[in-house]
Amino acid sequence: MTIQQISSFAAGDWVAPGEGSREIASAVTGEVIAAAGNNALDVQGMLDHARNVGGPALRKMTFHERAKMLKTLSLHLGKHKQALYDLSFNTGATQSDHMIDIDGGIGTMFVFASKGRREMPDGHVYLDGEVEQLSRNGTFLGQHICTPLQGVAIHINAFNFPVWGMLEKLAPTLLAGVPAIVKPATNSCYVTELCVRIMLESGILPAGALQLVSGGLGDMLDRLTMQDVVSFTGSADTALRLRSNPAILENSVRFVAEQDSLNASILGPDAEPGTPEFDLFIKEVQREMTTKAGQKCTAIRRIIAPEPQVQAVIEALSARLAKTVIGDPRLETTRMGALVSNAQKRDVLEKAAIIGQEAERVFGNPSDFTVDGADADKGAFLPPMLFHCANPDAAQRVHDTEAFGPVSTIMGYSDIDHAIKLANKGQGSLVASVITHDPNVARQVVLGAGAYHGRLYFNDRASMKESTGHGSPLPHLVHGGPGRAGGGEEMGGVRGVKHYMQRTAIQGSPDILSAIGNKWVPGATEIEGPSHPFTRRYHDLSIGETIHTGSRTVTMEDIEHFAHFTGDTFYAHMDQAAAERNPFFPGRVAHGYLLLSFAAGLFVEPNEGPVLANTGLDGLRFMKPVEAGDAIKVRLTVKNKTKRNEDYGEVRWHVTLTNQHDEQVAEYELLTMVAY
Ligand code: NAP
Repeated sequence: MTIQQISSFAAGDWVAPGEGSREIASAVTGEVIAAAGNNALDVQGMLDHARNVGGPALRKMTFHERAKMLKTLSLHLGKHKQALYDLSFNTGATQSDHMIDIDGGIGTMFVFASKGRREMPDGHVYLDGEVEQLSRNGTFLGQHICTPLQGVAIHINAFNFPVWGMLEKLAPTLLAGVPAIVKPATNSCYVTELCVRIMLESGILPAGALQLVSGGLGDMLDRLTMQDVVSFTGSADTALRLRSNPAILENSVRFVAEQDSLNASILGPDAEPGTPEFDLFIKEVQREMTTKAGQKCTAIRRIIAPEPQVQAVIEALSARLAKTVIGDPRLETTRMGALVSNAQKRDVLEKAAIIGQEAERVFGNPSDFTVDGADADKGAFLPPMLFHCANPDAAQRVHDTEAFGPVSTIMGYSDIDHAIKLANKGQGSLVASVITHDPNVARQVVLGAGAYHGRLYFNDRASMKESTGHGSPLPHLVHGGPGRAGGGEEMGGVRGVKHYMQRTAIQGSPDILSAIGNKWVPGATEIEGPSHPFTRRYHDLSIGETIHTGSRTVTMEDIEHFAHFTGDTFYAHMDQAAAERNPFFPGRVAHGYLLLSFAAGLFVEPNEGPVLANTGLDGLRFMKPVEAGDAIKVRLTVKNKTKRNEDYGEVRWHVTLTNQHDEQVAEYELLTMVAY
């Protein structure tokens, strides 16, 4: 068998393994299939290339351009999935494991692409939150902004998800405008290398945006500066070692850590045998124990069930686990493949022995189990193993020993406070799940356990058909957790992108803030356009372009007509005495919606033109009541513009309604689609 040489990609060149390379064995056969690593890798050259070539090229692009790049990249990867599947079987992963790693990774990149387009500007500065009013007259304001770090992101990944692990970090990094050097775990780096090759050969990425280290990093971490970020996924021991690096400490280099954690799943007190929740619980636990042969950072390590149900859970779970076909991951009938290596298998057995000091093994015998289509002695196969801990309060090792394989421990609880206490004994986890149909139980768990877990997953008969699974981190939601889980956070939509940007508080006048954010701020200069803005196309409108309308007097007939026409005869509009008793109104007042309609009547240009549709209002506030006899007028300003597709873009208008005393009566943002 030829041994595949797994290269690194450094400063634009592929570098084959050299001195110091390590052999990599197939998880299924134990045979050496690849080699990776090269002590002579020019790590300083890689850092320079990222900082001087990749970073500037990415920062030149807008958030939308980078989001589009991610979309093209994920579509391209989607066309090459089969090659990744074929290779990844060697890691012990089954086809359904590939769906999580390979399809899940591509899907994650896709979500970031779409969030980048919808939630970030088509510009270079991300506005974080709203304008802060810092002065009485509004001439001095504050605004938080984010801009990309000017260094490089070093991504160090665990072996279990060679594709997802890379893409879930790479997508937010590139979207932020920061180049990455990816270092996968050596055991499964051949899959990551293929994925990187596919991305690089597509030509979609600018030079220097992505480099790869297959094998060790050398002294790269010693060379990091305050503009760099390390995003690490792996064990707590390695994280501690790496985050203690003197250069990282001295330069306050951001270090995002995703570590192992002793995730728990709680069976609610209401979820007795015979309920849909009990069956759901058994299904979820079995799935989490066997997916990726239990090598998942989010896998359920501790099963927490009401004491009277413990035996029933052991029986139902054992019956389900007994049906798990273990074997060559390429076989369609296989439900659980191999662990990544024989070293990993030995490690799991050692950790299981430690757990065995405090708990009794009630299912799964590592010396007696069947493996389909592969040699159990050569490949890294193990059966699922279930332990029962009879005294979880006195126990410690079951709460702090992560056997990174198909191993889980069940323990009983007396009441929900006790269940919370046991879940929190893990000292911080990525996710805890609660299978309950009782909202009070869910609330109690949130109050008692929220601070200890990065994600709380509730599931019951109402959500089970569409739920995404205890163990699946989603790009929309934060992945990470406190304490033992590393104290880091990844993904969570735009939150994840911000890990690669600097947040800066900007202070200045409305004109300064408008120019920085490319978004008009009240108080900034108003621009007079050559004609009504509704007659001009998207690209012809300038930020700050403003019209002031004439005024319209609101009459009592208008109010009554509107009330009867719409059916909104609320007393504040119809009954003088009742309105006067209301603390908000001087007497009968105009409907807020009447004012909005009159405002539209004042500012629209009625003829067919480039404004295609009104798609909504944001931030509507009614600030002062309008009575019959008051006269309202409108100021309409182009606030900002966002391209939507090939034909049109969104124009957001700042709208202010004032009365005859120039007092503001209403304010909102109007959204329209305008043709290019
Ligand atoms: P690991 O041994 O800690 O290795 C993690 C990564 O660190 C690998 O890429 C490894 O590279 C690298 N590394 C080790 N020493 C290094 C050094 N001195 N300098 C630079 N890099 C170094 O973890 P693993 O065995 O791959 O993964 C299993 C662990 O990861 C489990 O504990 C699991 O819970 C955790 N995990 C957590 C998450 C999460 O999101 N929280 C996800 C998946 C896995 P080499 O392979 O080349 O040594």
